[in-house]
Amino acid sequence: MDMTPPSPPPGHQQPGPPLWLLAELTYRCPLHCAFCYNPVDFAHTGAELGTEDWLRVLGEARAAGSVQCGFSGGEPLLRDDLEILVAEAHRLGYYTNLLTSGVGLTEARARALRAAGLDHVQLSFQDASREVNDFLSHTRSFDLKRRVAALIKAQGWPMVMNCVIHRLNIDHIDRIIELAIEVEAEYLELANSQYYAWALHNRDHLLPSRAQLERAERTVADYRARLGERMRLFFVVPDYYEGRPKKCMNGWGNVFLTVTPDGTALPCHTARMLPGLAFPNVREQAVADIWYRSEGFNRYRGDGWMREPCRRCPDKEKDLGGCRCQAWQLAGDPAAADPACARSPDHHRVLAAVERANHPQPAAVAPLLFRDPARSRRLGRADPRYPPPTGLKPPAP
Ligand code: SF4
Ligand code: SF4
Repeated sequence: MDMTPPSPPPGHQQPGPPLWLLAELTYRCPLHCAFCYNPVDFAHTGAELGTEDWLRVLGEARAAGSVQCGFSGGEPLLRDDLEILVAEAHRLGYYTNLLTSGVGLTEARARALRAAGLDHVQLSFQDASREVNDFLSHTRSFDLKRRVAALIKAQGWPMVMNCVIHRLNIDHIDRIIELAIEVEAEYLELANSQYYAWALHNRDHLLPSRAQLERAERTVADYRARLGERMRLFFVVPDYYEGRPKKCMNGWGNVFLTVTPDGTALPCHTARMLPGLAFPNVREQAVADIWYRSEGFNRYRGDGWMREPCRRCPDKEKDLGGCRCQAWQLAGDPAAADPACARSPDHHRVLAAVERANHPQPAAVAPLLFRDPARSRRLGRADPRYPPPTGLKPPAP
């Protein structure tokens, strides 16, 4: 097979290879997280790729230079060919991760995945208490997750425990860290929710106050000092409070290649929302061609697409103008500076959300929306940029 990357289009630098392949095997999920990062309109997505397609994609991405493969979703364990895909990824020489809610990981499947060569597991919790975990995921899943954590350790996998942090659980951060110690996680990822997709709809429920954030940072620092090398703690601060955006996905089309359940290839898992960009599909185009040649992957590479204030900004190498999806959702222009940046003319939109988080008026907040397919079918037709009209109630417990 010819491994030489094609020449870049005029005006573009040759990017490196797609080191990280994120295989979103399915959008189906038994949980209903209020901050779910899957697209709000996931229920409108076409048929899932079959096993043969995924096997081909794994081979093509590896030939294009991918070295790490994350099997994600939705819940990837809902695919009964997961073991086949993991075995092929292992045979091809990938370092493999499973990103799971834990639902569906029985002892038999854990053994089969171990035999297939799975290297690493990331298990998500929604909180350290059964009540809040089960409320936020809208399922009775806490006890099951505890059992799954034990199964993961029994197989000898290194385990990342992941907990999305927001207003409704940030005050329990000490208990979440204690839970991670108890289940013997090697890493704990406390990632503050990013406000896309379902989390954007629920932002007024989820964005923490500054006082909550500062308390949480102090708690994390105390635990870090106490735990040393025993467990690594990642705490990702929400960019709404930083005044500078993050270098989204480490740069557009720079490291990450996401393949969605229907085969659409994206530079990040939410990029499909962006207007005026047709993203290629792995059913129709080879991975190397998609990565190096497609308009979808080239549009926001580098800094040639930037407008002011980013174009002449001394910090543009640091963050590459931030997140294109956040620019579209909050400023209505995917080529604008990320409004999380204090230099953006749209920063006032972020400040308004922060102001509401610090001085909440609960009566004015729409009910919390839990992710589910019926709601996705309805919301998918609405303007994806802004929170929906009020009046949608969460499903009954
Ligand atoms: S965030 Fe929750 S609902 Fe969304 S895919 Fe993950 S476990 Fe499922
Ligand atoms: S103006 Fe643009 S490049 Fe400069 S810090 Fe803000 S987002 Fe980054």
